[in-house]
Amino acid sequence: MDVTTPSLPLTDAHAHLNCDDNALEELAYRREHAVATCLSTATLAEWERANDLLASADVEGDAPLCVSFGIHPWEATAHEPSECAEAYRRCAAIGEIGLDDLWCDVPLPRQIAVFEQQLQWAADLHKPIVLHTKGQEARIAAMVADFPEPVLVHWYSGPLDIFERFAEAACSFTLGPDCSEEDELGHALLCALSPERILTETDGMEGILWAAGQKTGSTSDLSLIETTLSRTTLALARARNADPHIMACQLRKNFELFYALN
Ligand SMILES: [Zn+2]
Repeated sequence: MDVTTPSLPLTDAHAHLNCDDNALEELAYRREHAVATCLSTATLAEWERANDLLASADVEGDAPLCVSFGIHPWEATAHEPSECAEAYRRCAAIGEIGLDDLWCDVPLPRQIAVFEQQLQWAADLHKPIVLHTKGQEARIAAMVADFPEPVLVHWYSGPLDIFERFAEAACSFTLGPDCSEEDELGHALLCALSPERILTETDGMEGILWAAGQKTGSTSDLSLIETTLSRTTLALARARNADPHIMACQLRKNFELFYALN
């Protein structure tokens, strides 16, 4: 099947905007191609930029577009959560938040303190959360086991037994650009979750290129957004022996429910 089939309604539940200047073009592309998108912002500067771009962009269209905000674990020294009250109140979800002891040097105690405070903000404001769990999956699973609001685990790549712990706690998961039935975790993500707990994501253009080993294009090749999300949606439908369009509609519905857009 052609992976660029245009009729599938596509869903990108977690995407960072490019730092370079084609961000407006990317927003227009997402609207024109009806890609439901949550823009993930990791600092107050990113949050303000995303809102400014949305305000100035000519991005009319049917697909919903929302913005999440959370102090990313890599940015845990950039702000105190107490400085971010307005963003927490206005965002569609608090995230991505969490812990990372593999890809950053921010001391873990600082990350934990910021994460705990952001969980409290989300609980107090009744906001869903989006989790970054790199290398700290077991600790985070324990920390959110009784979290009262919806939880989305973004692009999970940790141990299979901890995946099961998140799944038992009724967390949702995004399928990242590299999701494949060929490995055990990919198979579990594609096949084991109940259909209302699954979303698709790109993590933004840089996530797509990272997953492809930087070989398939540049951040200005916006068609990769559609190709990537179509491919993941079709893989999910195939793994479940489901109709791709029905699966794509389910993903869109999950997106709107998680981010409380309807
Ligand atoms: Zn991300």
